[in-house]
Amino acid sequence: MKELKIIPLKCPHCGRNLEGEDVNVVFFCPDCYLALEVVGEVLKKRNLETVKAVSEGEIVYLPLWCFEVNLKLKWEKKVKEEVLRALERLEKVYVRGFTLRRTMFYADIGLEYTERGFKYTPEGKAIPTTCTVSLIEAKRMAEAIVLRVIDRRVDITGLELELEYLSEKLLAVPFVRKGHRLEDLFARIQIPLATLGSVRI
Ligand SMILES: [Zn+2]
Repeated sequence: MKELKIIPLKCPHCGRNLEGEDVNVVFFCPDCYLALEVVGEVLKKRNLETVKAVSEGEIVYLPLWCFEVNLKLKWEKKVKEEVLRALERLEKVYVRGFTLRRTMFYADIGLEYTERGFKYTPEGKAIPTTCTVSLIEAKRMAEAIVLRVIDRRVDITGLELELEYLSEKLLAVPFVRKGHRLEDLFARIQIPLATLGSVRI
């Protein structure tokens, strides 16, 4: 029988209990400003950065993975000019770190941030709410997002894509609360609170 090990969910730096639900994969210590991902039986530190918010009401921070990447494409077809242009600008890939119910009805924030080239100023030490997407999962999703950026322009049949990851971090991205919705300050994507199943606001 497999032995179950219990990881103490405590900040390795200050010893504080890390709060969060079972669905979380990354926990945060607000005192030490640390992001700690449960990987197997250990807590691994992840780079954490807070995106500066231009205050316009009640701000809520959601997690977004940010990868600096090099793209390698293999394609039988001649790659179209517009694809190359779009990919030239693509240096960072963003992947949402929270789970949405009924994803298909809403714009994918990771895709929009990636395609529009999100630029931000790091400021402050706000920590994001519940992070339910692991680094490994986020990397898998990053590839799908790049493919979707290309797919919006040209048929991607036969395309082989490889991402080389140069850096990775978890961003606390500001959203403003608007009634029963959260709206981000960059792409103005609205997310109904009801679809944020695992997020505690
Ligand atoms: Zn701590």
